[in-house]
Amino acid sequence: MPKALRTCSNHVHDSPLSDARIQLMPSLHLAGLSPTELSEFVESLGEPAYRARQIFAGLQHRRLRSFAEMTDIPKELRAKLSARSTSSTLTVESRYLSADGTRRYLMKTHDNFPVETVFIPEERRDTICFSSQSGCPLQCTFCLTAQLGLLRNLTGGEIVEQIIIALNDAYGVSVKAPRGTNLVGMGAGEPFLNFEFLMKAIRIMAEPGGLYIVPRRVTVSTAGVVPRIRELATIPDRPHLAVSLAAPNDELRNELMPINKKWPLHELMGACGDFQKALKPDERFTFEYVMLDGVNDSDEQARQLANLLNRHELRAKVNLIPHNPAEPLPYQPSPAARVESFKEILESKGIHAFVRQPRGRDILAACGQLAARTANPAQTVSDFAPAKVESLAI
Ligand code: SAH
Repeated sequence: MPKALRTCSNHVHDSPLSDARIQLMPSLHLAGLSPTELSEFVESLGEPAYRARQIFAGLQHRRLRSFAEMTDIPKELRAKLSARSTSSTLTVESRYLSADGTRRYLMKTHDNFPVETVFIPEERRDTICFSSQSGCPLQCTFCLTAQLGLLRNLTGGEIVEQIIIALNDAYGVSVKAPRGTNLVGMGAGEPFLNFEFLMKAIRIMAEPGGLYIVPRRVTVSTAGVVPRIRELATIPDRPHLAVSLAAPNDELRNELMPINKKWPLHELMGACGDFQKALKPDERFTFEYVMLDGVNDSDEQARQLANLLNRHELRAKVNLIPHNPAEPLPYQPSPAARVESFKEILESKGIHAFVRQPRGRDILAACGQLAARTANPAQTVSDFAPAKVESLAI
């Protein structure tokens, strides 16, 4: 097992907290509390229960990030809340706007760790790609985030706040998103190594009195943390699952995704098979396959991939993702004709395959490009205009 996998925990994994760090610890972060937890907190302040509902609506429905804006709450209570808790902990360091309308936010946590979120406008709905960890402990050779290593797991509140910040920036504070919002847990980090906070954030975001983004609008991508795939299968109200493959055999997958040494393909495919059995009629399940020029994109590898999925009777579709290049990653995207040929072979063997269009490559916002980079050729936008439907590229 790679060393970094063992170090993953819900805490900052370096030395014990220094005094300075303790001072930086925020008080209770209310954006990460469920309605029940918020009620308990409000009760502990000696306040009536309806105040908890007001605060929850202020934070999650109106997407207010400060108590000062919650003018329906008496001043004294706002002061009490500020003394005992915090409404927001992330700060936006920089924002980048892609030629295709995609926005990347580089934020930092209260203790100075980078968090990246991507807003991807689409014609019928918007997709927000959130991060589950600051950095990532997995060492996938084709992914820029791997170069950061794991900095720390994000809390539930830090996950929820990313979505609040992205929606507010795109549409304005308290403005209802004009299109539906889909979420993908495909930003920095391995969501299934931060499972509890991930699921907690997903539950909070599903609240009808809050953001109201339900789990069937959420897709979580894993590099193959087998026990959590099995656990997800047992959760009734769960997000969709995507599993990143990148290789059709253990030899190549060990090289590209070292997590494969811990959970090799037969174990991963077994867990995917069990997950498939638990699928509800309207539930989907996908595999992702990054296409690396001359590495994993041959006709023979397409046949191997089809045989692997067919052997395990897996009916999930395959999303082919042309590699998003970034210095110093040693890969190039497969040429379009190669991707097409790979796709045709999969389809000839009964596998549904789709080619994903990269979004936000020019601002290092595409899959595998999140590495807290500030210097890039992109335009840094100091004052973003609200996202407009007519200016969207698909
Ligand atoms: N750790 C999770 C989620 C983050 S990566 C996982 O591995 O699934 C999200 C997706 O981006 C994965 O499918 C991953 O294989 C893909 N990816 C990573 N680096 C990429 C790159 N440089 N170009 C294209 N896709 C990449």
